[in-house]
Amino acid sequence: MSSTALLDLAGSVAAALADRPVDGLGDEALLGITRQVEALGRSVDALRVAMAGEIAARSRTEDGPAGLAARKGCRSANELLQRLTQASSANTAARLTLAALTRRGTTLSGARMPAMFDHVRAALETGDLGVDAALALTKNLAPLRDRVHPDALDAAERELVAAATGSSPDSHVEASADEIRIQASVWRATLDPIGLEPDEAHAMAKRGFRLGPERNGLVPVSGGLLPEAAGRVKRLFDAYLTPTTAPAFLTDEELADKNAVKDPRTKDQQRHDVLIGVLDAMARSGDTPTIGGAAPTVLVTMRAEDLETGGAGYADGVESPLSPTTVKQMVCSGGTQKVLIGRNGRILKLGSAERCFTAPQRRAITARDGGCRIPGCSIPAGWCEVHHVIPAAEGGPTHPDNGVLLCWFHHRTIDTSGWAIRMRAGAPEVQAPPWLDHTRRWRPATKSRIALAMRLGRPHHGP
Ligand SMILES: [Zn+2]
Repeated sequence: MSSTALLDLAGSVAAALADRPVDGLGDEALLGITRQVEALGRSVDALRVAMAGEIAARSRTEDGPAGLAARKGCRSANELLQRLTQASSANTAARLTLAALTRRGTTLSGARMPAMFDHVRAALETGDLGVDAALALTKNLAPLRDRVHPDALDAAERELVAAATGSSPDSHVEASADEIRIQASVWRATLDPIGLEPDEAHAMAKRGFRLGPERNGLVPVSGGLLPEAAGRVKRLFDAYLTPTTAPAFLTDEELADKNAVKDPRTKDQQRHDVLIGVLDAMARSGDTPTIGGAAPTVLVTMRAEDLETGGAGYADGVESPLSPTTVKQMVCSGGTQKVLIGRNGRILKLGSAERCFTAPQRRAITARDGGCRIPGCSIPAGWCEVHHVIPAAEGGPTHPDNGVLLCWFHHRTIDTSGWAIRMRAGAPEVQAPPWLDHTRRWRPATKSRIALAMRLGRPHHGP
């Protein structure tokens, strides 16, 4: 089809689609038109994949600056495609993957060669096979290319395409993309059972750790750990998962009439919180660059006027804005540095770092507190944040007399958990929430062994 004919077609399809008679349709007509529109979409999708393949072929890295993407100022065919289509990177990457597997090559004499998955290519071109099913199919069969006989692979591909397009002798009903994924995985397991065995080399090649795209305020984590890595992670988590919050705080008599008070967090949530502490401790140690003694684990930017009143912030490397509560915690433990930016984006003025505890201050506070100040919490000092007892915004100084160690979780929830902290002559005291201790007594709850020893009035011997 010439490009002019394609433009004419696109114009008339757009005109027909603009007049959408959706709500006036009867049931049967609605279903019929849905199928027709989908068939149209599949043909367009096949063309999208083919176009992506052509752009990739003209943007090969070995062509260097002469490649198409490079000439258009893009780092890759994928970037060029995203700019052209406004589609997501996941979407354009899927098109490129499928294009690479279904694009026909050319011999030196100019003859067309079959594609790697030629049945898939043919069914895509006729609009019978959708991109979702084609991806599910090729994703499962592609790893088998070097492992099973080409004839066996060809048979599997043909059968799966037949199932997806309803042209199989077994069934004339098209299988959905999800069904194709399951069928393809069965084919894979049947053709290459050894490939499924978790032998070491295989696991080694498959090991990985991924952060997915953010959704609903959470970044999904996925991947696979080698058993030895999983063992280390488990040991770390198990050592710091807290079964209870109370025992270290209440006396035995006070505990007698209560059942042990459970940590309100799930085990999954606790593991998440332990991980933050581990990462923070690592960021603070060794060669990590520091701002005024505190390691800049995450850079958060916000408007100056929001600093006192509370407002959204933006973290380096994270897409969605951070809530005022999150920002407040990060400012409390991480400090601030004012940067005045002009209307044209130029930096007009750079202030010095404020409100962050220096490394010597942190060491002093660690010696006094010994770990998270909330009784029953087993997060060690090295993994804790320093909390301003009187917020800096309310005039609280960044001084050891106003800073206590709290783990990430107890810091995050200090305003809502019912735990209260005050400083008495430079020593922190903790008040438990009423559901835990109805006397509401203030108590010095330290985990520092030297502080405990001094309270006992005896000299401190050894660890
Ligand atoms: Zn804690």
